[in-house]
Amino acid sequence: MQEDVKQYLTKLEKDNVDFLQLQFTDIVGFVKTLTVPKNRFESALEEGVVFDGSSVAGYAQIEESDMRAVPDLSSYTVLPEKGKNYRIARFICQIHTPDGERFPGDPRYVLEKQLEKLHKNGMDFFVGPEFEFFIFKRDSNGNPTNIPSDYGGYFDNTPLDTASEIRQDILKTLYDLGYHPEAAHHEVAYGQHEIDLRYAQALVMADRVAMLKNIIKNAAQNHGLYATFMPKPVNGVNGSGMHVHQSIMSKGEKDNLFYEKKAKYGISELGMHYMAGVLKNINQGSAILASWVNSYKRLIPGYEAPVYISWANKNRSALIRVPAGEGMRKRMELRCSDSAGNPYLQFAVILGMGLYGIEHKLEAPEPVERDIFHMTAQEREESGIMSMPESLGEALHHFRNSKLMNEILGDHIFENFITVKQKEWDAFRSYVTKWEIDRYLPIL
Ligand code: GLU
Ligand code: MG
Ligand code: MG
Repeated sequence: MQEDVKQYLTKLEKDNVDFLQLQFTDIVGFVKTLTVPKNRFESALEEGVVFDGSSVAGYAQIEESDMRAVPDLSSYTVLPEKGKNYRIARFICQIHTPDGERFPGDPRYVLEKQLEKLHKNGMDFFVGPEFEFFIFKRDSNGNPTNIPSDYGGYFDNTPLDTASEIRQDILKTLYDLGYHPEAAHHEVAYGQHEIDLRYAQALVMADRVAMLKNIIKNAAQNHGLYATFMPKPVNGVNGSGMHVHQSIMSKGEKDNLFYEKKAKYGISELGMHYMAGVLKNINQGSAILASWVNSYKRLIPGYEAPVYISWANKNRSALIRVPAGEGMRKRMELRCSDSAGNPYLQFAVILGMGLYGIEHKLEAPEPVERDIFHMTAQEREESGIMSMPESLGEALHHFRNSKLMNEILGDHIFENFITVKQKEWDAFRSYVTKWEIDRYLPIL
């Protein structure tokens, strides 16, 4: 038996663990788990478990479907379940092909590969997401509605607030897991909330985000409610985003390489090149960052979500904001990504776009501090401000033609993502909506 397997078997024994949960994600970001009982611990740690890859979105064809999920031992976490007479520990898995190779369709592997590029140069990538979501009521059959569970607004603490209890439940679980939650608050829209996590290394954070979604859904369910990461679930009010604060640091979190005290805006040359890379390639990466038909109903003017490609220090209508902060706190906040996506691919694509800017020494434009939503089309054109894609269809068009996305994601994910998402877009664009019937039938 391998030494590290032995060590973890002892740990499992010591922690009184009854079940192992083996976890990975599919291409669109849904978390998949398999639970094994005590008698399978040794073989699960040593060989992993076999599953049918052809039943996982974006994974394998029928003829090559036997995949193996092999636990990444360093991801060991005992789940803080309460009120149960058993304990569960969770491992995040690497996916292997039947030949024992790393499977190129594993989204986590894509992020690992991007990060390796930095590690080789003694650097690492850190991200801190702001995670927005809605909590809705269920109907009498228990099905989710889009009726908000409360009528609070930004930072409100509503009376008899089940929602604040849910937020506290979430914070407590995150704290018990050692995820360093920073804050939780009510967001702008009725029933909308936000949880912020302290920044962490990007792979660690992607694992946390995958878990966080589960924690949020469970917390709402425990109160008979429904939590959703759907980017725009209610017409005419703010949608839910996942703003990503990011920085590149030297290994061991010693120096923030985006910070340069004497530089204009306090951003280093490396940071400016990185930002230029993100701005230049954002349309190509958009299908990953905002990956659903519904994502593009959020990215419209007037709801604090970005629409135009620009950066700013203060202005929240910008795509990238550089919040006030010096030293380790210097960071860039990308605002177009949403909490419904695949965090592994989202972080990999963000980093890949930034690295492109560094490799090509791209120059970032000047910041735009004006509210771009109130500029005319002509003013925007004169300032050279371009727009983000308006639909998943448009985003897929940019994505499909992108050599950079193909490089970041590898052939397998690049091609499968196009297949899965083009199907979704085709289903939507060929569907006659209620809006069209209401609007056109009486007049045409
Ligand atoms: N909910 C807004 C969005 O769609 C963001 C609000 C905020 O600035 O936190 O991105
Ligand atoms: Mg927010
Ligand atoms: Mg923000």
